[in-house]
Amino acid sequence: MAIMNITVYPDAPLLEPAARVEHFGPELVKLVEDMVETMFSSDGVGLAAPQVGISRQLLVLCEPEGEPVCLVNPEILEMDGKAYMEEGCLSLPGLYANVPRATRIRVRAQDVEGNPLDFEAQDFLARIIQHEYDHLQGKLFPERLDLMTRDALFAEWEEMRENPRPDAAVSN
Ligand SMILES: [Zn+2]
Repeated sequence: MAIMNITVYPDAPLLEPAARVEHFGPELVKLVEDMVETMFSSDGVGLAAPQVGISRQLLVLCEPEGEPVCLVNPEILEMDGKAYMEEGCLSLPGLYANVPRATRIRVRAQDVEGNPLDFEAQDFLARIIQHEYDHLQGKLFPERLDLMTRDALFAEWEEMRENPRPDAAVSN
């Protein structure tokens, strides 16, 4: 396994919609293993393929105390409820905001072997999936915020790029 480099905003392909995964096999399994290792080494709870420079509809996640999960070509079919929670992103290191997300979602996807998955997720798991799913559409969490908050965040981002400081808390 190998730790991959994490793509940081605004580098490609972070801001592009990712292409569907069409080929399942050992190469995909290897990529997923590397993404899981990269996620753990970065203390993230989720990682999408565009964050390691690969524009494919593929994400991995792991809830605290949970097992790593891989979703290929995920679609969010239903969304209900709304809650705010602080989020960060490995592609926007040091930036955090309270982001509104649905509290229950229904997801259709494939596993790493191409088998169909259809399940419901709630609360923190639903939040991680929505965050990573957004990466596959070329969206980052500030886009889920109102314009003023978003502008303030990106101003903070520019400021941090000029004066780096150590970061903390959970990112995905
Ligand atoms: Zn992220």
